[in-house]
Amino acid sequence: MNAFNLSNETAIVTGASTGLGRGIAQGLAEAGADLMLVDYVPCDETAAEINAMGRKAITMVADLMTTASIPAIVEATLRTFGKVDILVNNAGIIRRTPAIDFSEKDWDDVMAINSKTVFFFCQAAARDMMKRHHGKIINIASLLAFQGGINVPSYSASKGAVAQITKALANEWASQGINVNAIAPGYMATNNTKALREDQKREKAIVDRIPAGRWGTPEDLKGTAVFLASRASDYVQGHVLVVDGGWMAR
Ligand code: NAD
Repeated sequence: MNAFNLSNETAIVTGASTGLGRGIAQGLAEAGADLMLVDYVPCDETAAEINAMGRKAITMVADLMTTASIPAIVEATLRTFGKVDILVNNAGIIRRTPAIDFSEKDWDDVMAINSKTVFFFCQAAARDMMKRHHGKIINIASLLAFQGGINVPSYSASKGAVAQITKALANEWASQGINVNAIAPGYMATNNTKALREDQKREKAIVDRIPAGRWGTPEDLKGTAVFLASRASDYVQGHVLVVDGGWMAR
């Protein structure tokens, strides 16, 4: 299983305090990586779990609603670990309102963190990765990169952009030793989907349509994240990999 081994690799994971980012960070650490955990709230619990595994985790509190903190995050990672091998752009938000009443603020906020920050974080990390001709970028998209969704127009637009950013960057950087791919999680039980899971009618309609018959969990993304972060995926470029219990196959 050496192709999946992440020993001596350094990863930045955004939105790592909870949910899918926390699960992905744990998975990368289990495979041997050291981590820079970023969030606008402290990532102390995630860091403690990773340190308990014998891996090194450092943390930084930063608001990714703007791109302003990206250079400082990359610099802090380089100061401690000397390199950035893996970037997981996971931090993201969702706003739910029928399209007819959707506000400009809800449009701008979601697009800012979910797609603009993703692009400029990729750019900042790739500048270091290119020096060593080695890097793995994993952007967290959504099934709403493929489907339109209901009451979440800016979210769908932003995740469609994530899929296209992923392909655009893969085209430019594959020849420079950088793999750029995305994971499109299905319906996962995190804060992001709390409102859906509390709406009994929607909750039942969603589970009834998932062939696996259950919501996904942060643990369900670990293996996919390790695959896309490791040598095992060296010839995988610009792919949006769904991890959805079969939703898209239906
Ligand atoms: P979550 O709300 O539990 O986690 C989001 C993370 O992003 C949190 O750690 C949060 O603190 C962080 N974050 C939010 N705003 C931030 C900001 N301004 N600056 C820095 N960090 C910020 O939700 P999640 O489900 O774990 O979502 C993670 C990613 O997965 C998101 O990009 C989301 O769109 C995507 N996703 C989730 C699902 C799902 O069903 N849960 C499905 C598809 C895609």
